[in-house]
Amino acid sequence: MGQPRRQNAVTLGCLAVMAFLYSAAVFNVVVPHLGYSVHGASHLLLLTALTGLAAATYLQCVYCDPGKVPADWQPDIEQQTAAGVLQVKRRGGGNRFCKKCRAFKPPRTHHCRRCGHCVRRMDHHCVWVNNCIGHGNYRAFLLMCCYLAAACLHALGLLLQLDAHLVQVALGWDEESRVQAAAGGASHRLAGSGGGGAAGAEEAAGAAELAGGGGIVASKVGWMGPLWLHAVVQTLATAVALPVSVGLVVLLVWNMLLLLRNQTTIEYHEGVVARFMAPGAFDTHSSSGGRHPFDLGWEGNVQHVCGSSPACWPVPGRAAACGDGMHFPSPFAAPPQQQLRGKALASPNLLQHSL
Ligand SMILES: [Zn+2]
Ligand SMILES: [Zn+2]
Repeated sequence: MGQPRRQNAVTLGCLAVMAFLYSAAVFNVVVPHLGYSVHGASHLLLLTALTGLAAATYLQCVYCDPGKVPADWQPDIEQQTAAGVLQVKRRGGGNRFCKKCRAFKPPRTHHCRRCGHCVRRMDHHCVWVNNCIGHGNYRAFLLMCCYLAAACLHALGLLLQLDAHLVQVALGWDEESRVQAAAGGASHRLAGSGGGGAAGAEEAAGAAELAGGGGIVASKVGWMGPLWLHAVVQTLATAVALPVSVGLVVLLVWNMLLLLRNQTTIEYHEGVVARFMAPGAFDTHSSSGGRHPFDLGWEGNVQHVCGSSPACWPVPGRAAACGDGMHFPSPFAAPPQQQLRGKALASPNLLQHSL
């Protein structure tokens, strides 16, 4: 199977949703409602920055190679054993080999049927970016989750603010309506006491304005176009932003938990299956107390993926995680002296994987 086309209907749809929510928040809420005040400009700048970063990291995930295995890669059993992690086939215990690619597989590598090749440190195949998430774009994927969730929550917050305001206006609970109601009552009392035709005309105008309803709303939100379009965009954008925000927050939390354990989605599911198949007797992740063999501690795990400098973590320039995606540090690695002597067989974690 050849390389799939990167952009498809799903990825174009995702980009369209991003553009729609950004446009709705800016042109339905920020510009007409907050204007170009400091408050409005701050929201506009922040939302534009978050959306831009979200789109950039999204496109990185779509277009970056998730990490093919070099054609000449050969397993080095001694090196893998010294590193503390030796992955073998589920059956037979030999070197992991991909029948489809007719090549050996490095640790944490899996074959993706959709992409048609083996992917280094494969996390999962993501239909939303029409690409595998692997060593080559894993860091970009994590940043994409962060920026997409932040941008979507920001847009949702703005939309909900306007929703709440419109409901208040419709029910006459906002401050301006209360002032007008008070003024209407006063003029009514004035007319009742013989105040003349001018007060009666003012009351009639107020009644007409209240009956119109839309005119009041339009003037209060500074909306220049037809009111029905304002309402349709507002309703649609809120209906889209709510479930998307919930989904993105769940995705973000899930991937942060995996990042803190330096565990891929596939490895998590393999662990669940192993515990189901042999509860209490076998843990595919480790032979040492159930600890994931690549777990370097939360700080080491984040640094291994995002880089050693925390100041660079949010910068989206580099798409790939650290290392080459074929060799991984492990807390079970043998001491250097032992490795040099070639006796590094202290406690290798034998990980079994199906082909
Ligand atoms: Zn393969
Ligand atoms: Zn794939």
